[in-house]
Amino acid sequence: MELPAAFVRRVVRDLGPEEGAALCAALDGVPPVSVRLHPVKCGDAGALSERLRATGAVPWCPDGRYLAERPSFTFDPAFHAGAYYVQEASSQFVGCLAGDVAGRRVLDLCAAPGGKTTLYASLAGPDGLVVANEIDRRRASVLADNVRKWGAGNVVVTACEPQALGDFEAWFDVVAVDAPCSGEGMFRKDAASRGEWSENNVRMCAARQEGILAEAWRALRPSGRLIYSTCTFNRDEDEGALERLLERVGAEAVEADVPEAGDGWGIVCGRVGAFRTYRFYPHRACGEGFFAAVACKAPDSGGRVRTPKARRTLFAPVDKAATAELERWVAGPAKMRFARVADTLYGWFAAQAEAVRTLSEAVPVIYSGVAMGQLFKGRLRPDAALAFFAGLDRTALPVAELEHDEALDYLRKQEFAVAALAEGMNLVCCEGRALGFAKRIGARVNNLYPNSLRILKSER
Ligand code: SAM
Repeated sequence: MELPAAFVRRVVRDLGPEEGAALCAALDGVPPVSVRLHPVKCGDAGALSERLRATGAVPWCPDGRYLAERPSFTFDPAFHAGAYYVQEASSQFVGCLAGDVAGRRVLDLCAAPGGKTTLYASLAGPDGLVVANEIDRRRASVLADNVRKWGAGNVVVTACEPQALGDFEAWFDVVAVDAPCSGEGMFRKDAASRGEWSENNVRMCAARQEGILAEAWRALRPSGRLIYSTCTFNRDEDEGALERLLERVGAEAVEADVPEAGDGWGIVCGRVGAFRTYRFYPHRACGEGFFAAVACKAPDSGGRVRTPKARRTLFAPVDKAATAELERWVAGPAKMRFARVADTLYGWFAAQAEAVRTLSEAVPVIYSGVAMGQLFKGRLRPDAALAFFAGLDRTALPVAELEHDEALDYLRKQEFAVAALAEGMNLVCCEGRALGFAKRIGARVNNLYPNSLRILKSER
């Protein structure tokens, strides 16, 4: 499908004939393929390069890698283990804008499917918290799957209108709005996005972004950072959205301290009031079309912390014996707290456990922390999410290492060789990366991989 004519006219007008033509030519080219490695599960990045054939690092993201070609990720067990996230390179740049978020509270207001959430989760670490919100329920459940698989244990997934999180006034250190947009930056990677584009849709997106940014600003504490991004090129949804926000918040916005973009990165840097802006054009930078901006809320902007009233009590305490059983499964038990929600036991890092409770009592949470599992006669029957948790204590149970093809059988929920398994519950791994659990009872194996995640494609 051709690029929309009105889009071509606009970029030629805005960028000039030469640069406009270069952009349009790049949008008809082949997109680069990139991933972001899980810093804990992929400590040794070289381990991935054989199957994925990494060709180089993404210059603005320490864990980002370009790949020689697009492999079939479905048939790579490391992908299912959450050892990397398939994320286009430009959007990995938001990590540079977040500042030092270790131990901080980050709100990712438009989060599904979770590319940026998982990046923020790695940066926030065990003392931090990422609240990943997605308004669309179906997309929120994909987000929750990706959060489980990433296994950082420091994410709360909510599914609500931005306003419900704006009501957590001045509560967040960083608020990220990766706004729903007209998607012009995706014209190369996703051909369907060309058909969905219209000037009317650009106007609609711009109006929606204004509302989301207003809620984001409410949720931000004084001195906190706002990160705004889109995957579109038009001014109305990019600089224009920031100008409209500044009309409302004026001097409350001040510049953020951010590292300079590298000379050879091909990023076009600019400013809108207090906002530093970054444009990624595919004919200049190695990535898809992307726009990002950052500013801080002034320290003296006077925002008072206010959280909505609790609407329900969700967390039931667990007794000493249950706590001792749960502690056996995690590498840093002293840093964790446990509670029961409905019939499942969950773990959260102690530093943010109260914050998770506050949120869970006020807004619809669909996943948080680590689902540990259920207790039967005092023993934990682990939830699949616990296998993905980077803080799992692997001495808690036998580890069954499978060959590549056996691992794919496991991931398809088919029968696989019993020989690798010890009697009872096993952690199933491939190349040392955990995929899930399986229970051996004599000659029989109970494959506990979740139905919802299993590989349905038969062969590559
Ligand atoms: N941040 C995601 C990532 O890195 O994987 C991509 C987010 S996508 C660009 C924008 C998301 O905003 C979509 O999932 C969309 O469903 C959601 N959205 C749509 N309308 C919204 C609204 N009114 N408020 C908040 N989010 C909205």
